[in-house]
Amino acid sequence: MKSIRVLLVLTFVSFFTTAFVRAEEAKKESGKAACCQKAEKAGEKCSHECCEAAAKGGKNCEKCGGKNEAKK
Ligand SMILES: [Zn+2]
Ligand SMILES: [Zn+2]
Repeated sequence: MKSIRVLLVLTFVSFFTTAFVRAEEAKKESGKAACCQKAEKAGEKCSHECCEAAAKGGKNCEKCGGKNEAKK
C-alpha cells in the first residue's frame, strides 16, 4: 500500500507543478503581441520586422501591442 501512496503524492505534485508552469507560460504569452501569438499558434514565427527585432532582444514587440515587463 505504501507504494500506492507514494505514487499518489507524485501524481499530485507533478499535477501542481505542471499547472504552475502552465500559469507562468500563460503569463508570458499574455505579454506577446497578438500577431506573434497568432503566428506561434500556427507553428511559425511572426514575420514582422519589428517583432523579429524585439524577439532577438528576448522581448515582445511593443509596437504591435506586446508588453515587456521591466527586469528587476
Ligand atoms: Zn508580431
Ligand atoms: Zn511588431
